[in-house]
Amino acid sequence: MDASRFIARHVIHLPRSGIRDFFELVARTRDVISLGIGEPDFDTPWHICEAAIFALEKGKTHYTSNLGLPELRRAISRYGERQFGVSYNPDNEILVTVGVSEALDLAFRAFVNPGDQVLFHQPCYVSYHPSITLVHGVPLPVPTYARDGFALNAEALRDAWQPGAKILVLNLPCNPTGGTCNRAQLDAIAAFAREHDLLVLSDEIYAELTFEGEHVSIASLPGMKERTILLHGLSKAFAMTGWRIGYACGPAALIEAMMKVHQYSMMCASIVSQEAAIEALTRGSDAMLRMREQYRRRRDFLVRRFNEMGLTCHVPRGAFYAFPSVAATGLSDREFALSLLENEKVAIVPGSAFGANGAGFCRACFATSHEQLLAATDRIERHLQQLRSKEPLAAEP
Ligand code: PMP
Repeated sequence: MDASRFIARHVIHLPRSGIRDFFELVARTRDVISLGIGEPDFDTPWHICEAAIFALEKGKTHYTSNLGLPELRRAISRYGERQFGVSYNPDNEILVTVGVSEALDLAFRAFVNPGDQVLFHQPCYVSYHPSITLVHGVPLPVPTYARDGFALNAEALRDAWQPGAKILVLNLPCNPTGGTCNRAQLDAIAAFAREHDLLVLSDEIYAELTFEGEHVSIASLPGMKERTILLHGLSKAFAMTGWRIGYACGPAALIEAMMKVHQYSMMCASIVSQEAAIEALTRGSDAMLRMREQYRRRRDFLVRRFNEMGLTCHVPRGAFYAFPSVAATGLSDREFALSLLENEKVAIVPGSAFGANGAGFCRACFATSHEQLLAATDRIERHLQQLRSKEPLAAEP
């Protein structure tokens, strides 16, 4: 029996994630050094884990309010003022979600009508394009370029914009490029959003991991709070990927719309994880800053090594990914990543997994120990030497 006839058309036509395909291959290869997965190598700081243990000891094993624990929403509100320079009312402008993943899904489901156009910069996080397609929206990718450090520029946005476009998704600092925007660039994007009456979904999950300059939230710019949903979570900066806590902040009417979808699907995030999140947001800054310093050192090392090897790599200003060009190898990004995996057992992700504009680049995550980065870069260098030594042969008739 062909069970696939039961699958909805828009799901059948959804392409599988390029990352997933690649990692199935990685899983079949032994002794791989992986710079592939986008998650901290650090375990969650212990005082945060303890808060969860205490919560269990106190019998906190129940559902919470759909919006999330009031104490967590108050902690988010205080944290938001410090980190993003925006003030949100914990009673009706904050919704706690199951990771930023759920917050993104809720936002698309709550705000996109079939046929609505959604702008987002690309290369970008793998879920944006399919999530927009799943709600029958129309994705409008806006290219970003290595020459700009992959910052989104308002000119490219103007070029990609179509009449009727409704939403702009931003991810600054960006996965996979590490690109971000300074205040002046963000001012221009904000002016564009106001001029064209766009709702901005601002995924700032890497905000704390900004290495140079300040992180500016678009929500903090004049006239933007009322048209922005700020999405943030604890997975990256606090090394809490497995706890699955994120949140959305925005105008009460929009948060209420997202909450309606959330209450019929997830109902609430895990209470134990919410208790841990209170601890992270109120007392987790020292541990977070120590991890950030490690990421910065690793970034400097990895980017220097890529450039020394001839893989041109801009300095990512945030997040924990290097995004070198592999064009000099004469191979496509996928061919290069596959040959590196096969010959030297190092996993990096082909840039085209992050959209057509990522072609010719690869993503290497530096949330990995220094020893692993040392070994991985030696292997990559050896692989490049091997490719170079083969070049003249390949050119022979
Ligand atoms: N947004 C971006 C840009 C990401 O890189 C990720 C995770 N890789 C997420 C959202 C989702 O994170 P989580 O669901 O763990 O909060």
